[in-house]
Amino acid sequence: MSNGNFAAITRRQFCRLSAASLPAIAFGGGFFAHSAPPKQNGKRDFDILIQGGTVIDPSQNFNAQLDVAIANGKIAAVAKDIPANQARKVISAAGKIVCPGLIDIHAHVYEGVGIQGLSPDRGWLAKGVTTVVDAGSAGYTTIAGLRKYIGSTSQTRVHALVDIGTLGLVAGISGTMENMAYVQPKETAEAVKSNKPFVVGVKVRLSKAVAGSQDMEGLRRTREAAEAAGVPMMVHIGDTYSPLRNILDQMRKGDVLTHCFHPEPHGLLDERGKILPEVLEARQRGIVFDVGHGSSHFGFDVAAQCLQQGFLPDTISSDLTTRTAAGPVFDFLTTLSKFFCLGLRVDDVIQMATSNAARAFDFGLPLGTLRPGSEADVAILELRDGSFAFTDSLRKDRTARQKLFPAQTIRGGKLFEAPRG
Ligand SMILES: [Zn+2]
Repeated sequence: MSNGNFAAITRRQFCRLSAASLPAIAFGGGFFAHSAPPKQNGKRDFDILIQGGTVIDPSQNFNAQLDVAIANGKIAAVAKDIPANQARKVISAAGKIVCPGLIDIHAHVYEGVGIQGLSPDRGWLAKGVTTVVDAGSAGYTTIAGLRKYIGSTSQTRVHALVDIGTLGLVAGISGTMENMAYVQPKETAEAVKSNKPFVVGVKVRLSKAVAGSQDMEGLRRTREAAEAAGVPMMVHIGDTYSPLRNILDQMRKGDVLTHCFHPEPHGLLDERGKILPEVLEARQRGIVFDVGHGSSHFGFDVAAQCLQQGFLPDTISSDLTTRTAAGPVFDFLTTLSKFFCLGLRVDDVIQMATSNAARAFDFGLPLGTLRPGSEADVAILELRDGSFAFTDSLRKDRTARQKLFPAQTIRGGKLFEAPRG
């Protein structure tokens, strides 16, 4: 994978090279920023101290044993040997990974509206994901409800993309974009603008099952809405009526292509398994390639062929719903771990699920980092060794020798405790 043109490679290599000399690296900015342990002043300055874990923070090229101190909902310090008596609560992370709270940019969390939405706190936050982007569960008529009843009541940081199809996923049927009366760019753009920064973009689903033969008209209207609202669009591909080239032609820098490793017609590969030139050109233009696993959108063989040609995903997302929670997706950490079957390492997948995901949309504040002064969204994970079987959307199995498991999650400086029952 050394011929890849994606920054993950060089950053990962740098990360490994620099790990040994980490304590000498000065931290950038932040009130409590330290490159040495904070001075002992007898006061308990910190609300929480996470001690003894391996901190993996690709945004700062960290992979080293460090402590993380939290105060007033923000990261206060990341340093070696911060004294336990400076914190009101100490969490031991010995033998575990401590990383920025994970970000899933393709989730479905509109619980109780439609049939696919899962509780973000139970489905994501309990498993290390502190930020989710609901990818088009709601259209312009229902987005305000997603914001009011899910966004503002969940401990998980919830953002959303407004589906260009008015029905979003509410109808629970296919063909929801075959009738263009349900695809209204002006109203969609207004809904985006009046729900910022909760809403971060516009979503369109272009599969034949959703849009029939009208994918290009649906995409044209999506782009009109996204441009009018000043946000990117997320484009769902897989078994589209039109070839991928036509779809990529309508996408601009910062737009997200989701389900990038889908095994259906009109994917990233030609008939000989080579990456299409228009895909490489789209990456050069700054289009974001996102995994969006889902029920039918992730094939191990397609992903393996892409990775062998140096084409890594920019972001890994789950497309987790009530249906796919029973398999083949299961959850976000399982989705990340599937890439261990394909040769990626833990630093790589954490980068895709933190700093890369944070750049995919404008969340209104810096996420996906443990830089002092940033939001104290932190995941504590276990990387277990063993033999783990994983399955893709075609029910093809692969095994990996490692798998990520959740341990604890801190969101906005508060330790998340899963509700009973
Ligand atoms: Zn989806």
